[in-house]
Amino acid sequence: MKVYFLGTGTSQGIPVIGSQHPVCFSSDAKDKRLRVSVWVYDEQNSVVIDCGPDFRQQMLRAQCPKIDALLFTHEHADHTAGLDDIRPFNFKQGDIPIFAHARVLANLKKRFDYIFETENKYPGAPSVVEHVVVQNIPFTVGTWSIVPIQAWHGTLQVFGYRIHNFAYLTDVSFIETSEIEKLKGLKVLVINALREEKHHSHFSLQEALDFVTLIQPEKCYLTHISHSLGFHEEVQSRLPKGVSLAYDNLEISIEL
Ligand SMILES: [Zn+2]
Repeated sequence: MKVYFLGTGTSQGIPVIGSQHPVCFSSDAKDKRLRVSVWVYDEQNSVVIDCGPDFRQQMLRAQCPKIDALLFTHEHADHTAGLDDIRPFNFKQGDIPIFAHARVLANLKKRFDYIFETENKYPGAPSVVEHVVVQNIPFTVGTWSIVPIQAWHGTLQVFGYRIHNFAYLTDVSFIETSEIEKLKGLKVLVINALREEKHHSHFSLQEALDFVTLIQPEKCYLTHISHSLGFHEEVQSRLPKGVSLAYDNLEISIEL
């Protein structure tokens, strides 16, 4: 199974428009971060988690040929604003299955009402098949069983997803013990780490590292990174063994 990091930046992306922060002027490609998303695939299955405003560019540069399912963590714009750009996949494949919490689906229906129109729908508008994700109920995509992991983004419920021994969690500031149980025996954990300073709805770097110590995956990749965390190379050099900062276009292989 492969995991391709389509984007690893926080909601504004890096560089931030108009920012004078040195990281926003970095010439290191690893300091350029699109909005957070991953593509998980093997020979039979292809799943994209979240569909932010950089989705089109991400699909082009990853050369993603098909999407069996689009999974949403939550409704914030940096995770959903690219939904209109699934149309090329619709033209090739037909309706795209989308998986999200019922609240997230309701929010998408409000913001992308034309996608969910049942009468006089504009020909060529995106088309989706909705699937409600419920806590404690794994679901199937292709040959994969996917386990939803519930967490909290400040006061907002979010879902992370576990596929075999890989788990992806972003925009997390708290996770209940019962959900932590579902993260045992991971080969790879992806978790968000925004910056050094505390934040009301995201793990700081230290909180993310404490979480890694608790979960003990074989390897961990940090994502949803702010420019204020610092330069990639500098931050990477002081991370503990087995923990890496993810960066855009990083692709990892996981033995099942
Ligand atoms: Zn976010």
